[in-house]
Amino acid sequence: MSILSNRAKSLKPSPTLAINAKAKSMQAQGIHVISFGAGEPDFDTPQNIKAAAVKAIEEGFTKYTPVGGADELKDAVIKKFQRDNGITYKRSEIIASCGGKHSFYNLAQAIFDVGDEVIVPAPYWVSYPPMVALAGATPVIVETKEENGFTLSMEGLKKAITPKTKALILNTPSNPTGGAYTKEKLEQIAEIALSHNIFVISDEIYEKIVYDGFKFISIASLDEEIKKKTIIVHGVAKTYAMTGWRIGYTAGPEEIISAMNNIQSQSTSNPTSIAQKASVEALAGSQETVSKMVAAFQERRNYIVDRLNKMPGVSCFKPIGAFYVFPNFSSYYGKSYEGKKFSNSTELADYFLGVARVAVVPGVEFGADPFERLSYATSMEDIKEGLNRIEEALKKLV
Ligand code: GLU
Repeated sequence: MSILSNRAKSLKPSPTLAINAKAKSMQAQGIHVISFGAGEPDFDTPQNIKAAAVKAIEEGFTKYTPVGGADELKDAVIKKFQRDNGITYKRSEIIASCGGKHSFYNLAQAIFDVGDEVIVPAPYWVSYPPMVALAGATPVIVETKEENGFTLSMEGLKKAITPKTKALILNTPSNPTGGAYTKEKLEQIAEIALSHNIFVISDEIYEKIVYDGFKFISIASLDEEIKKKTIIVHGVAKTYAMTGWRIGYTAGPEEIISAMNNIQSQSTSNPTSIAQKASVEALAGSQETVSKMVAAFQERRNYIVDRLNKMPGVSCFKPIGAFYVFPNFSSYYGKSYEGKKFSNSTELADYFLGVARVAVVPGVEFGADPFERLSYATSMEDIKEGLNRIEEALKKLV
């Protein structure tokens, strides 16, 4: 009998986190690596949020809370949806979990079965297909095109639907492309989802990180019918520079939230009480720091997109939101460095890390091999230096 389960054997570590760990270990060895790896804001968690956590500790808010989060946090989430999206939820339709990833994982465990198909538009976030597969279901990858802003075409979506389709995953704004859905596109998707009785899992973690006045719309806000078929996955990590605090939340039909609650009560129990209090302050307190961070991200986006598009043979879509660029480097595939030929995004990323000391995540991990992903949630100084290194490294290829 083998030691590991088939489930564990088929799983590889998250490539975003693995690349981050590799860059950090090289930095610890004194190697000056510029990391465009995992998407983690370089800003510190805002002071008012930290103070709320300190207060929670001092007041002894350090015990179990209800499994799905304290009422105070659920109420802050409810107010957020009302204020920002015009959607009304009840407490029984909200659950807090240990990060957006955990929210998605529990949701997948709650609604997917063996034989179910789940539509995953590509490029996709690295963890969607494994989490769907861990729940026994089959991810059905549907490609999106750069000329469509990396959003689904309705023909592509319709073609992928079968009687086994249980859900569609939407991530707007998208990690890794920065593409985002307009109201018109969401209305078309909602119509298709409703006519085929498919759930929409809407990952809205980058909702607040949008540029040039783009108006974010949640598909659940369109009407009551689609709201009943939508489950929103969200969290505080990206908006409030709170990646380490691990608070995500899910909003959706009571039956699903209740099942997630059962799963959570048999696994992690409640997310950390102190982080819950901090998240209440994040969601309900002053939002001033958010606009400052977004302004900085926009400046970095403008710089990085411009620089990449000026590099010979590189083309880069201008993101509407999130903090990643997804440039196409495929014109370099087939070229060599010191006799070693690169034929894909993994080999080119290895070259960037090994020779240029720049960490990027290979596009193949997102289901799109012509590309590399760079997170620009890092300082402008590092962005400039990292791009100089990439530019020099590309020049060395013959
Ligand atoms: N979501 C971020 C990323 O894509 C953080 C790492 C992860 O969980 O994948 O880089």
